[in-house]
Amino acid sequence: MDRARYDGFVKTFFECDPVMVTGIFEEFLAAMRAEEFLPPGSTMSQNYDTARANPEIHVLPGNLRDARDAVFPFFWGTDGWYSPLHLENVRGPANYASLIGAIACLLKNPNLCTDTYSQRSNELEVKAITALANLVFYRTEDPWGVFTIGGTLSNLYGAKIGVEKVAPGAMQDGLAGARLAGIVSAAGHYSSQTVAGWIGLGTGNLHAVPTDASLAMRLDALADRLDTLYRGGHTVAYVTATFGTTDAFGIDDVAGIRTIIDETAARHGVPVPQLHVDAAVGWALCFLTEYDCDRNALSLNEDLLPVVRRVQSHALSLRLADSITLDFHKMGRGHYPSSAFIVNRRSDLKYLSRSVVETPYFSEADGRRDPALFTLECSRPALGPYCVMASLNGIGLTGWQMLTARALELAHYLKQRLARLEYCRVLNHETSGAGVVWWVLAKGRRAREIFEDFEQGRLSPEDAHRYTHEVRRLYEKREKVLDPRLDARLSFTTDIGYHPHGRAIPAWKAVFFNPKTDEGVVDRLVDSIEAV
Ligand SMILES: *Cc1c(COP(=O)(O)O)cnc(C)c1O
Repeated sequence: MDRARYDGFVKTFFECDPVMVTGIFEEFLAAMRAEEFLPPGSTMSQNYDTARANPEIHVLPGNLRDARDAVFPFFWGTDGWYSPLHLENVRGPANYASLIGAIACLLKNPNLCTDTYSQRSNELEVKAITALANLVFYRTEDPWGVFTIGGTLSNLYGAKIGVEKVAPGAMQDGLAGARLAGIVSAAGHYSSQTVAGWIGLGTGNLHAVPTDASLAMRLDALADRLDTLYRGGHTVAYVTATFGTTDAFGIDDVAGIRTIIDETAARHGVPVPQLHVDAAVGWALCFLTEYDCDRNALSLNEDLLPVVRRVQSHALSLRLADSITLDFHKMGRGHYPSSAFIVNRRSDLKYLSRSVVETPYFSEADGRRDPALFTLECSRPALGPYCVMASLNGIGLTGWQMLTARALELAHYLKQRLARLEYCRVLNHETSGAGVVWWVLAKGRRAREIFEDFEQGRLSPEDAHRYTHEVRRLYEKREKVLDPRLDARLSFTTDIGYHPHGRAIPAWKAVFFNPKTDEGVVDRLVDSIEAV
């Protein structure tokens, strides 16, 4: 090999040139500043037409500016969701403490599969998981967990522990004809379907329990379903409760579910299903668990305090869960992927564990703490732990309380504003969270009465269809006329997860994730509804 040439290119790509690296970083930052002056959305149109036609790789070694140029159009063409007008869904801008954590992580690129590869980064994972566990389980004794690539995978860990609890040896022998079932609410996230399919349970064996109007799993329906399944010879591996549904922020009664699954399993003489909580979205409400509503140090509006108290009682019941999914990349405003899977009792991880014999190249692994012995993944990024610890400690508990309470405050404000329009009906009045779902009907209609008729099954199928179609049509009308520089971007859901008389309810939807969104944005949103 021509060593001079080789050494030159190795220097370019494997020796850090701080001036070059920070210079390019500043160029990216400058592009982001420029973006602030543009309306949210796409700054550059997509070009899928030829994305596969020219997958060229440069022939000769270039430099870091070539690396920049290779991605810049896609960087520029991607919205960072920094605009306060983004209310579409459970995603928002990442916080800059998380960026500091992420940069530190990327500079070292640790691999969390085992601590011989990552040294102190695994220790950081233990710290981050324990901090989050103390927050959600509230004074737990012996939690443990790992960061995964997303809520879907974290939910998979919970389901898999359930399968191993009720069908011991499934990891080795497969399901071997066992008639296993899983349970989730009808408002649960579709990832439960994904999980049931991928772990071999089968989506047909995942049972959706109907919710009440507050988008919480109906406990009477859960008890019935469990009884029916047990009497039919099925073994229920897990019940996944949802703590904050993706659309309407419905929160399942975890304490009620705990009582029912314990009692029903005891009555049938079978092992208790895993009680996993999908708190991918809602976990951040736990920042408010210890907020003193009487002192009200953050001067929250009086009428928000009942909402906070409700949140606190929900949050306290999480300690009854066996395991939990927590997406820091959602209400933690951290970088992807920062999802955590946490068990309340570390001993539950034995259901997932492999022996060192099965992981020969981790023969040095320490069974007391090495994730390689139980994780689904082998190589794992350390972005989660770095983003989480940097964010938690940069922002601090009071900062997190302000962020979380502000989201509740704005959702509450929008609900109040909409309640004053007779042709609108808020559909999740009872939920305490960052999201609002509602109906807009034509002016002159009495939305509250129409919705009540819908809920009570008093509307003919034609009328029900006519009204739900109207909700959609008006949404599309607003989309057509909105001014992207001033009007908030909303989204539309075809099914909020509550199905009175078996009918899905579509709705307009707004989620308050962006810390810079304010009352002015909500006022303008209400004006735009009055104008359609
Ligand atoms: C987003 C979400 C998931 C999936 O999480 P990802 O991190 O997107 O994989 C699961 N459950 C709920 C309730 C969610 O909102």
